[in-house]
Amino acid sequence: MFRKNEILTLDITEVNNLGCGVGKKDGVVAFVKGAVSGDRVEAKVIKVAKSFVVCRLEKLLVASPYRADKALCDAPLSCGGCVHRHIAYAHELDMKRRYVEGAFRKAGLADVMVDEVRTTGVYCGYRNKAQYPFGKIGGRTVVGFYAEKTHKVIPCTDCALQPALFGEICRFVCSFADAHAWSVYDEETGRGLLRHLYLREGKNTGEVMVCLVVNGDRLPDESEFSNALMTRFVCVKTLMLNKNTKNTNVVLGRDYRTLAGEGYIEDILCGKRFRIAPAAFYQVNHDGAELLYGIAAEKAALTQGETLLDLYCGIGTIGLSLADKDTRVVGVEIVEDAVVCARENAGRNGMENTEFFCGDAGDAESLVNEALKKCGDPKRTTVVVDPPRKGLDASLIRYLAEKQMKKIVYVSCDPDTLARDCAMFRTLGYEIGNVTPVDMFPKTGHVESVVGLTRRDI
Ligand code: SAH
Repeated sequence: MFRKNEILTLDITEVNNLGCGVGKKDGVVAFVKGAVSGDRVEAKVIKVAKSFVVCRLEKLLVASPYRADKALCDAPLSCGGCVHRHIAYAHELDMKRRYVEGAFRKAGLADVMVDEVRTTGVYCGYRNKAQYPFGKIGGRTVVGFYAEKTHKVIPCTDCALQPALFGEICRFVCSFADAHAWSVYDEETGRGLLRHLYLREGKNTGEVMVCLVVNGDRLPDESEFSNALMTRFVCVKTLMLNKNTKNTNVVLGRDYRTLAGEGYIEDILCGKRFRIAPAAFYQVNHDGAELLYGIAAEKAALTQGETLLDLYCGIGTIGLSLADKDTRVVGVEIVEDAVVCARENAGRNGMENTEFFCGDAGDAESLVNEALKKCGDPKRTTVVVDPPRKGLDASLIRYLAEKQMKKIVYVSCDPDTLARDCAMFRTLGYEIGNVTPVDMFPKTGHVESVVGLTRRDI
């Protein structure tokens, strides 16, 4: 085994989904952050584990053709954000496809077809949401990102994945905070006010939400700040305070207070208008979401008179954009504010034949059962599921199979849990269609996928 500080010459053969190049030396696997398949590098061992070593890239001896031809941004590599920023985009798409394929192979589903990764082609400025931690550097207020695996703030107001406008708002808020001597929260002592700056933009309306997450109930100069911000940025439609006094890694607390505007913004997605509350989930890549929903619609292939059961529905975007005015849509979502938005969104888009339930979609026997009853004939019901990364509860999968749901469209942000759940659906009698990966999160290690599951005729 190698020793710490030893210098290795490595040929990099692959990149894992954390963005680390992987090479081998004398049978030992070495991970090198910032290295790409095809690179030959000199790397220093910084950590020795039982079966592998972690190295720091010291010198690029031969640069891979898969390297991006220009740097995405100036932030140091330690900013944990976009782990694929040094990789050419076409190669990133290839890697993501192989990642999805690998997940299915590991789940014993090597025969499942994985399509090319679909993308809008835009890999900069695509995000419509940011949550920047506040910090103090040299007595000045900064916002940025936590250095990977730490809580040290790396100042960065111009992240390449965010719209340029967010940078302007960041700088405005920081200079106002300095001019008014606002304090910054310190995790060690639990003291100080400013914790996070949470921004959201409706891409197709231009409406922006500014939300300050604070360790307390109010800002010292609330109305002055509110007036200054709303005057400087006419696109800011609402200013909110979120109270988080807990010593926790969770960014948002439960309580919001609206300082200006209505307490939400709106966006137009797939031709429909949606209200988005700060506590509700909304796809971070607007154009990517339209692409994703289009693929989900193809796989759902709804026919006249069919009902849609939208599980993990958020503010109702998938159900409401796949359905037409007469389609019955029933949604289930755990965040109450999101359910309120979903109901409102259905009404404002003239979708009267809808019902939304608030609760745990894993609670198959009671809640999902109740929702399914509202769908009418289960044989004429298509189910869309879009769970968080941990995937579906086994009990929900069993329930859907027992009810003999004919068609299930699974939208997933985690290939591993998707593959695991698909394997279970297969054993319960479902055919697995092509998996279509969608690059909703270019330059990061994440990839979304959609797959249609159909019940084999019995
Ligand atoms: N389909 C929506 C939301 C997808 S994100 C869209 O495309 O915008 C996943 C959603 O599941 C989030 O809104 C989250 O609040 C919700 N959620 C998480 N756990 C849940 C659970 N156990 N039951 C129901 N909804 C849940």
